[in-house]
Amino acid sequence: MTERGRTSYGCPPTRIAWHWTILLAVPMVLLTAMTMTQGQPLPKELRLLIPLIVSFVFLNAMFILMLRSGRIDQFRSPVFILYALGLVMMFIPNMLEVRGTVAIGAEEIVQGKVPFCHMVIPMTIIPAAFTRTIIFPGSMLEGFASIGTMLVLWLVVSIVLGRGWCSWVCFYGGLDEGFSRILRTPLIRRISPTLRYVPFAVLLVIVLLSAVYLTPTYCEWLCPYKSVTEFAAVTDARTLIQTVIFVALFVGLVIILPILTGKRTQCGLFCPMGAFQSFTNKVNIFGIRIDKDKCIQCGACIKACPTLSLDQTCLEKGSPRMTCSKCGRCVDVCKFGAVSMQIKGTPPGHPNLGRVLFVYPAFLVMAIMGGSMIQQGLYRIILLVTTGSLVGGS
Ligand code: SF4
Ligand code: SF4
Repeated sequence: MTERGRTSYGCPPTRIAWHWTILLAVPMVLLTAMTMTQGQPLPKELRLLIPLIVSFVFLNAMFILMLRSGRIDQFRSPVFILYALGLVMMFIPNMLEVRGTVAIGAEEIVQGKVPFCHMVIPMTIIPAAFTRTIIFPGSMLEGFASIGTMLVLWLVVSIVLGRGWCSWVCFYGGLDEGFSRILRTPLIRRISPTLRYVPFAVLLVIVLLSAVYLTPTYCEWLCPYKSVTEFAAVTDARTLIQTVIFVALFVGLVIILPILTGKRTQCGLFCPMGAFQSFTNKVNIFGIRIDKDKCIQCGACIKACPTLSLDQTCLEKGSPRMTCSKCGRCVDVCKFGAVSMQIKGTPPGHPNLGRVLFVYPAFLVMAIMGGSMIQQGLYRIILLVTTGSLVGGS
């Protein structure tokens, strides 16, 4: 085991020379500039301009350091965490401005105005295949976070990144990841590996219940992230119980257990979307490879993996379990350069090629989605500081 624990970064494979790094970074700089400004001139108002410039510089600095250093997780994680915090900072004031409340009312449900979130994808598309019914009160193509837009995004990302979705794209994942990184040495060091199968059981149950009752079961009863986005207004005993469950799951799985274990417990031990996404790893071309000739079986990567996707069997097999979310932490912590991101089936020997080919689309999607959230989150903070309120700035 490493003497300093899970966040001790080792000596990753090989750095990329500065001139190649800059050359490779140019398209990312241009693409992020285009998407973050949406092709418009820079805003003149300082409280809009500052978040734009700060998030643009931050994202591209992280990408350049990721390319140059050979490390993945060290420069992915800060973006991913701020992305999730930005979502929360943005979502709640937005809903207050649009609806006057974060609670979903009967009117929004009847009119199909509930934003569609990727967590609902498994319980939407699997029952839809059998029942030909989309069991979600959202719009198919119109408005904020429509069902069609999210399904297309999910499909494209799944083909390119597989379960990389859970460490690069999921707009909630940075929350349990952020809390999991608070303690340098976790207080609970042993978690039963069998718990990694719980999300598959949750997936099976919610898909069956959704198909039978034609309601988004997970969304209605089990989603911890309802606590920081939106939930049905508490009007009776049923909605009160639902709200208590959401808050309890959020506090337990997203805050307390990640702090105590250093693991992403919502993502790795509960989330049915994560379990569902694991199957896409089977058809995705990128994967973590462990070079058995270089590995000295120190166990640092096993200890570091936030989703319990590595064990002794994986070291012998040369690859993680299908639940790997491609966060890259094992690549970073291995001091012997034994772990790399590779295109499956290619011969070993070019660790930077697979890494660059993977991190480019992964970071691009994270930058496009996360950049906007970080930007808007910063804007809300500036608004709070300058006006004393999170809402009503423009
Ligand atoms: S791959 Fe082998 S040498 Fe590298 S961190 Fe894992 S166990 Fe240690
Ligand atoms: S196996 Fe490696 S890349 Fe996959 S989740 Fe674990 S630490 Fe991250």
